[in-house]
Amino acid sequence: MADKASGFEADTGIAMELQYAPQSKNQNRVSIVLASGLVTTVAALVGVFLLQALAHINAMGLHIPLGAALVGVVASSGYGVASYRLGLRIRRTLLWTILLFQFLAYFGAEYCTFASRPPIVLPGTARPATFPEAFRFNATNMRLRFSGPGPDSEPLGDVGYFMVGLEILGFMLGGIFAPVMLSRHPYCDLCQLYLRRWNLGTIPAGIGGIFRAAARDPEAQTRAYRAADAKLRELARLVAVGDAASLKRELAMLDLPQRKAAALPARVTIELCQCPGCGDGFLQPVLHTGHGQDTKSRPLTKIPMTRQFISTVATTPLERPGPSPSTVAA
Ligand SMILES: [Zn+2]
Repeated sequence: MADKASGFEADTGIAMELQYAPQSKNQNRVSIVLASGLVTTVAALVGVFLLQALAHINAMGLHIPLGAALVGVVASSGYGVASYRLGLRIRRTLLWTILLFQFLAYFGAEYCTFASRPPIVLPGTARPATFPEAFRFNATNMRLRFSGPGPDSEPLGDVGYFMVGLEILGFMLGGIFAPVMLSRHPYCDLCQLYLRRWNLGTIPAGIGGIFRAAARDPEAQTRAYRAADAKLRELARLVAVGDAASLKRELAMLDLPQRKAAALPARVTIELCQCPGCGDGFLQPVLHTGHGQDTKSRPLTKIPMTRQFISTVATTPLERPGPSPSTVAA
């Protein structure tokens, strides 16, 4: 490899590591993320208010805490989108701040609803109720609405506090859904950017179909599993020796349709992750076992690739050979 490092390396015997200069970042990224989240939070809560006022639908109270969690997800979408766009890693402090903001937003919205309605006078008092009094009254007088034509339940009393607590919790946890998902997204520490991902294909690692004899043969399953392992090692070897043409050919053969892949007891998906800044990346194999909701996924060892190698392998997403003439005719 003849590059600028070789001169330095020849002089000093030390390999040059500072090849790519990370670009400067906006210093106010945290403030921008918080501001974006607050904008979507206000928008979501105004939507909830309008739904209640115009269509008499209490979105927050639907199937407690599912409705509240869904509103929380919409409300906090700004935090997630802005963090992703700005490449801001969501750390614990930011996550706690978002939770606090969601908590305050819930009570802010409740107060706005309280203030926008005509004052209420509670039984046994001769003055308009304060916000805490009205909040307590609403909580303990909450009624469950059953599906069907039957009447609502009796007022819940103290159980109402539990339901309100559940609603608040749903709204707060919905609020950190996107940030938590994002914190699991691959990230380049050098450039402080989230990596882009492309699914390149699936390696079968088992035999599907309960009516097939091979599927019920443990040894056949083991052979399929080992074949997947051999395929992975071959991909890693081709990357290591820099054989882009063969790697491209191998990847193009991983065209197992998703429906067929899902029927296998085990399969390995191959994802290409690349930093939009420095261009470095890796192949990320992920082992999936089980079916449907019981699917378990486990990332396997990454296969690192330099930006030069990724660019020789393909312009992403990797192009795949078109259908053969026979399949076109059929
Ligand atoms: Zn990078």
